[in-house]
Amino acid sequence: MQLSENYSRMLFEKTVIGLALCRMNGNLVDVNSAFAELLGRTIEEALTLTYWQITPEKYASQEKAQVESLEKTGRYGPYEKEYIHADGHFIPVRLSGQIVEIEGERYIWSSVEDITDHKQAEEELARLYKEMEQLSFQDGLTGIANRRMFDQTLDREWKRAQRDRSSLSLIMFDIDYFKQYNDFYGHQRGDECLKQVAKALCGVSKRAMDLFGRYGGEEFFLLLPATNETQARQLAEQCFSAVKQQKLPHELSTVGDIVTISAGVSTIIPIEETHSSILIEAADKLLYQAKQKGRNRFEHQQE
Ligand code: GH3
Ligand code: MG
Ligand code: MG
Repeated sequence: MQLSENYSRMLFEKTVIGLALCRMNGNLVDVNSAFAELLGRTIEEALTLTYWQITPEKYASQEKAQVESLEKTGRYGPYEKEYIHADGHFIPVRLSGQIVEIEGERYIWSSVEDITDHKQAEEELARLYKEMEQLSFQDGLTGIANRRMFDQTLDREWKRAQRDRSSLSLIMFDIDYFKQYNDFYGHQRGDECLKQVAKALCGVSKRAMDLFGRYGGEEFFLLLPATNETQARQLAEQCFSAVKQQKLPHELSTVGDIVTISAGVSTIIPIEETHSSILIEAADKLLYQAKQKGRNRFEHQQE
């Protein structure tokens, strides 16, 4: 009997999970070293505390529910909460417990696990996920919005324009003779050129609701909600001068000695039952016309 008591005590002491026995009023009457350590205290110190002194205020209502469950079923948890460490910081823990009867008196017997590492891993995962989500809406080369972002935004803005009966404009840009640029300067300089053009075009629109991005290859878009034809044309003009100002040399261009762009500017007030693809098709068609007419220009719908 003596041996078995020592044995139980040893198991209690050596268990790596925190174990605590407290009275129904919350006074801690027995804890093992893992529990005391978790709180940053000695066993003696821990035994001067009540359960409520190591529980942050914000868990008051959650704890009430646990006490109710304890009264009803004799058990509680497992659930997650925090304890207050001796130095004041909160330690995330997972705990569960039950009511035990010792010599006619009822006590709460709890086992507590420090889940700091687990919580940190969870937070890191959430951060990585957010970053990944952000990256997947971003063009890897230029850092601006990508096609996926465009599709999603166009869909949303198309519906909004349908609802508000407002005009939605789209400018599609394409770098002129970019194949020749790559052939002459090499693919790496080509990439650099794409970044420079993106940078120039990116600074043109100042409204938060406008979306500028890379459609793919050497094509860019500027989606302009609540923007009429005249306003869209003005923005297209500003885009052209922004690229011109960069004066990026292009030896093989037949429209000049610097990098130029062509664009199609379309504006639609979407009526119901039309699909947003008609806005892209219209801009594409106008862009094609601009190329046909000699490049380094933009075409827009005739009013
Ligand atoms: P146009 O004036 O009619 O637009 O002629 P273009 O040469 O610009 O058009 P084309 O469609 O024939 O060629 C586009 C070129 O863009 C071909 C492709 O190698 C290049 N390109 C597409 N994406 C990238 C990229 O990410 N980096 C680089 N360096 N080049 C790219
Ligand atoms: Mg192209
Ligand atoms: Mg091109």
